[in-house]
Amino acid sequence: MKVYKFGGASVKDVKSIKNFVSVLQKIPVENAVIVVSAMGKMTNAFEEIVNAYFNNKKDVSTKIDFVRNFHQSILNELFLDKSDFIYTQIDQIFMQIIGFLSSNKEKNYHYVYDQIVSKAELISTKILSAFLKQNKIENKWLDARDYIFTDANYRQANVDFSKTDAKTKELKRDNLYITQGFIASTINGETTTLGREGSDYSAAIFAYALDAEELSIFKDVPGVLNADPKLIGNTVLIEEMSYKEAIEMAFYGASVIHPKTIQPLKSKNIPLYVKSFLEPLKKGTIIRNKVKIKPEIPCYIEKQHQNLISITTKDFSFINEKNISEIFSLLSKHQLKVNLIQNTAISFSLCLEDFNGNFKSFLKDINITFNTKYNNNVKLLTVRHFNDEVVQKIEKVNKILVKQTTRETVQFVVM
Ligand code: ASP
Ligand code: MG
Repeated sequence: MKVYKFGGASVKDVKSIKNFVSVLQKIPVENAVIVVSAMGKMTNAFEEIVNAYFNNKKDVSTKIDFVRNFHQSILNELFLDKSDFIYTQIDQIFMQIIGFLSSNKEKNYHYVYDQIVSKAELISTKILSAFLKQNKIENKWLDARDYIFTDANYRQANVDFSKTDAKTKELKRDNLYITQGFIASTINGETTTLGREGSDYSAAIFAYALDAEELSIFKDVPGVLNADPKLIGNTVLIEEMSYKEAIEMAFYGASVIHPKTIQPLKSKNIPLYVKSFLEPLKKGTIIRNKVKIKPEIPCYIEKQHQNLISITTKDFSFINEKNISEIFSLLSKHQLKVNLIQNTAISFSLCLEDFNGNFKSFLKDINITFNTKYNNNVKLLTVRHFNDEVVQKIEKVNKILVKQTTRETVQFVVM
């Protein structure tokens, strides 16, 4: 069995949905599960419904109208027969949304979020399944919530692999299934979600549970590139790399593939292809066990909006274990993520990411015991598989605040 995943960009409008069908006409689909995200930016639009529900109830109906109109205009173009059952199905989902919001008593934002935002994937997959049928591609629509089980940690639910495994094994193996990424359910049948951008993870879960022979993720880029094309002009396609390399790259900030997605695949040695939905027959990038990165060229990863802080003791004594432990407990208290550490005799430097705007309050706390110097809004540049030429170039054009080198990786904090 094969698992394919198509993200929001691959089904963002009528033209891309038609391309989606043409991709499925080119690749083997007799025995496959297709995992699809919400269309385009619909997840954000559904989030706005939830936010309006909690903050500004009078905006709820405008926000619902927006997503309804978006899907309605796609339906109108794809299904000329207005009596097609798909119109009723999508109407029913909107009735569920309105019904849920008018009767809901639950105050937990995360719970409500999952009940509403999950509809975006249900709608996209209903439309795609019906449109494939109209194009003579037989398929079965699956509700992912009947197969992927999680705890009740809404918006970041944790997968129960043994229950998921047992249920998924019941799937018959000679069908084409269309199902949703991102959404799942508790054993009590409450809808949960797996975190933003969670559809890749869903696809990996299906691949794992089905012992799939491969997972292919179709994207708007030809595969994994050696740099972000938005930042660097001449990017090179990575043809092959190991799971470990992919995890390392993600750790340093590459938005390639989330480590959570890699783990289930790695544990069953299922190869992951990352390829273009515009050129689905090209190989793209293959990620699998124990291969050397090919071509072996420098890979650039840039993280913006970092904070660099240097911490010294007030009496200029050495930084010791007790100091470090105190520093880390404050970092944890203020939810700051540490991306780089450098320690000298009397100073401890950290490159920090501040997701929740807590850097100022952290400074206040840390300055009670220590002296600090800091720079806000610096960049962290990481180069995997670097060479001298690359390092010299970076040092020439940037003001370097910190440099750290290990065997395969060089990192710079720059202004
Ligand atoms: N639709 C969800 C999101 O935009 C999940 C996904 O696309 O991976 O985050
Ligand atoms: Mg998406």
